[in-house]
Order: sequence, then C-alpha cells, then structure tokens
Amino acid sequence: MPHLQAEQPHPKEPAATAAPSAFAHRTAVVTGAAGFIGSHLCERLLNLGANVVGIDNLLTGRLDNLAHLRSADGFRFQAYDVTRHFTVPGPVDFVFHLASPASPLDYARYPLATLKVGAIGTLNALELADAKRARFLLASTSEVYGDPLVHPQTEQYWGNVNPVGPRSVYDEAKRYAEALTSCFHRSGGTRTRIVRIFNTYGPRMRADDGRAVPAFIQQALAGEPLTVAGDGSQTRSLCFVADTVDGLLAAAESEHAGPVNLGNPNEITMLQLAEEIRAMTGSASAITFVPLPADDPKRRCPDITTARTRLGWEPTTDLRDGLRKTLDWAERHFPARPTVAGRTAP
Ligand code: NAD
Repeated sequence: MPHLQAEQPHPKEPAATAAPSAFAHRTAVVTGAAGFIGSHLCERLLNLGANVVGIDNLLTGRLDNLAHLRSADGFRFQAYDVTRHFTVPGPVDFVFHLASPASPLDYARYPLATLKVGAIGTLNALELADAKRARFLLASTSEVYGDPLVHPQTEQYWGNVNPVGPRSVYDEAKRYAEALTSCFHRSGGTRTRIVRIFNTYGPRMRADDGRAVPAFIQQALAGEPLTVAGDGSQTRSLCFVADTVDGLLAAAESEHAGPVNLGNPNEITMLQLAEEIRAMTGSASAITFVPLPADDPKRRCPDITTARTRLGWEPTTDLRDGLRKTLDWAERHFPARPTVAGRTAP
C-alpha cells in the first residue's frame, strides 16, 4: 500500500497558546486540493493553523491554484489518484473528500473517472479516515436532487435523478458516495459528515470549465456573445467560495452528521446573471440563446434551515461583491483574448 511521504515534520499536539480554532495544530487531508474549492479550503485551513496534506491527480485541477501555498509551513502536496488505495504517515484528524470532476463539461469529458472517484475514491478516503480515527467530510452536491420536483430543496427530499442520462455519472456517483459514507457512519466506527454543496463561484474557476459564471465572464471580457442555455429562465442559487468554505469548516466541526445543504438561497435566472455580468464588465456583447443540455435542472434553490440551525452557518457575501472579486481575478488570470475595446484582456 503506497504511503504519501511527508515533506514536513509531523505537527505537534496543540500548544497552550494555540489559536482558538478546532483546526489549529490538527492535520487535515484534503482530496481534490488543487481544484477550485479544494485550494481555497487548503488556504483557509493553513490560516487556521492546521497542517494540510493536499492530494490531487490534477485531472481537472491545477498546481497554479496551490502555487502560493507550496512553501507554506505545514503544507505538503502529493500528486496522487485517490482511486488507488492510499494512506498518509502519522496522525490525521480530518479528511475532507473533495476529489471529483465537478462541472458538467468535466464529467462529460471524464465519465468513468467521475464514477470511479465517487465510488472507489470515496471508499479509499473513508478507509483512511477509519484507520486514522479521523473525522470525514464528503463534499456531495445539490445534483443528488437531480431535476427537483420540490422547491426549495430540503435534505429530506430524495431527488429526481435520471440514472441513465448523461449527468448520471456525476449524480449517481455522489449518491453512491453518500450511501458509502452513511454506511461507515452507521457502522459506528467513523465520524462522518455529508454536505450537499449548491453552485459555488469565485476566483480560480477555470475559464473553460463550462459553468455559467466563468463562461459569461470570459465571453464578456472577450467581447463575444454571452451564450445562455434555453430561454434563460432556469434558476441557480450562487454561493461565493469563501462562504462555502466557511460552511465546510462549520460542518466538519459540528456534531451533525448531515446531510446538510450549503448554498445561497437567493435564486437568480441565468438570463439575469448574464445581464449582471455584462453590465459589470461594461461589455457590449450580445446575449444569445443555445439549446438546454439534457436533464439540465430548471430550478435549484437550497433550503438552508439545517445549516442555519445546526451549524450556525449562512452565506454572507452579496452576489455583486462576489462577482466583483471573481471578475477582478479573472481579468488577471483568464486567457488573453481581444476585448470589446480592442485591447487584449490579461
Ligand atoms: P474542481 O474540478 O475544481 O476540483 C476537483 C479536484 O479533484 C480537481 O483538482 C481534480 O484534479 C481532483 N480529482 C479528480 N479526480 C481525482 C482523483 N481520482 N484523485 C485525486 N484527485 C482527483 O471542482 P470543484 O468545483 O472545486 O469541486 C470540488 C468538490 O465540490 C467536488 O467533489 C464537487 O463535486 C463538489 N461540488 C462543487 C460544486 C461547485 O459549485 N463548485 C457544487 C457542488 C459540489
């Protein structure tokens, strides 16, 4: 069984002067560390004084997302595919399992890898948590509700998922991952948490990952038409990544096993989102309409009563503020393309 070799000495037990954080001087393993949410989670854990072992096979993530952390005290990164059995040396207190392609384009591109990481990768991560007596957190998704028939979605809703449609590789993998996690929880040996993340956005999303926020930003910056699926009346609820990370940490700390919805309950139509981003960029781009992808959910809105009452969590970032931060980052990092003004976008 392969061991991920530590590049740093193993952390000490919490000191008397430790910061008042459940994560200070603890060791957290983060799978999917080089991804969008995973990289923000690693950064936050390090800021809270944790030692972090980030694991990622770079299927959809990028080392660039971790570049600023590579020399940080207490951080080590291992390029590894978690569908192969793994362990880490020394004690582990938390396992955050985020590894999985997450955007519809990505899981269409990697269907088998998506099924495998949801199934075998989750089993391996659970076995690591079990062996280390660590707390395990599964990053599940609102996609377990499929195209929901109940609005807003509460955790009690079992969903409306097409098991053989093109999105099923992701939806069913996550449903299976929830079943596995619940099995370990029921066995009594492993303390598990399941969070169902709704659409999250922010800096470090890839311009080409196909999700609405980076796609509209990229198109607006390039002066290209913003392509809205269907008639644009389908809704999403968008949560800024800093809020989502707060929710992951609150869930890991809490005694509530979940599942618990993490998302922003403010719905916005895709047409409104395109118009908002176009206005914020000052772009003169047209808005055009393209066919809706198969099984695309028409409405997506979390009921976050459980998160509010059991975790004391709710999102605090206003959509405009979050979009502004995302846009500022995208202007510096998205691929250079001609802009409306004839200049070159950075
Ligand atoms: P992402 O694609 O940016 O990050 C996922 C990371 O997992 C990538 O770095 C990828 O390389 C890595 N990975 C994939 N397969 C792996 C494997 N076999 N071994 C090791 N690493 C592997 O996606 P994200 O948006 O950051 O999503 C992170 C998690 O949150 C995912 O589990 C996703 O299902 C969940 N989630 C995200 C959202 C969202 O809006 N971003 C919504 C719901 C759920």
